[in-house]
Amino acid sequence: MHGIFFTGFGVANNMRNMTEQTAAIKQAANATATTRTELRDLRDQVERLAMLNQALWELLSERFHLTEEELERKAQEVDLRDGKADGKMTAHPLRCPQCGRVSNSRHKKCLYCGMLFEGSVFG
Ligand SMILES: [Zn+2]
Repeated sequence: MHGIFFTGFGVANNMRNMTEQTAAIKQAANATATTRTELRDLRDQVERLAMLNQALWELLSERFHLTEEELERKAQEVDLRDGKADGKMTAHPLRCPQCGRVSNSRHKKCLYCGMLFEGSVFG
């Protein structure tokens, strides 16, 4: 009697576990599909931005006779504004030593008083 009861309980428990696992698998599959779509959209956006960047560079370099070396120097300067030469522009708050207000490290100078941040790294 006890055996049948526990066996029946065990089967019901297993079925509930399987239903939960199936739901979890479906949820994971949906999340994967969403991530794939987002990744494709991001890739499309990056490719469009890269194309626009190239078009802008060609326009500017032709109009102002700029060289690749000048572009590279400027890119290094912008890269270093966040204190790290990592090919990225990570923004962080920057307190201006002149006026004490907080600007963003992406900017070349203080938004409030105009002091140049160039080459200086402070938090
Ligand atoms: Zn300032």
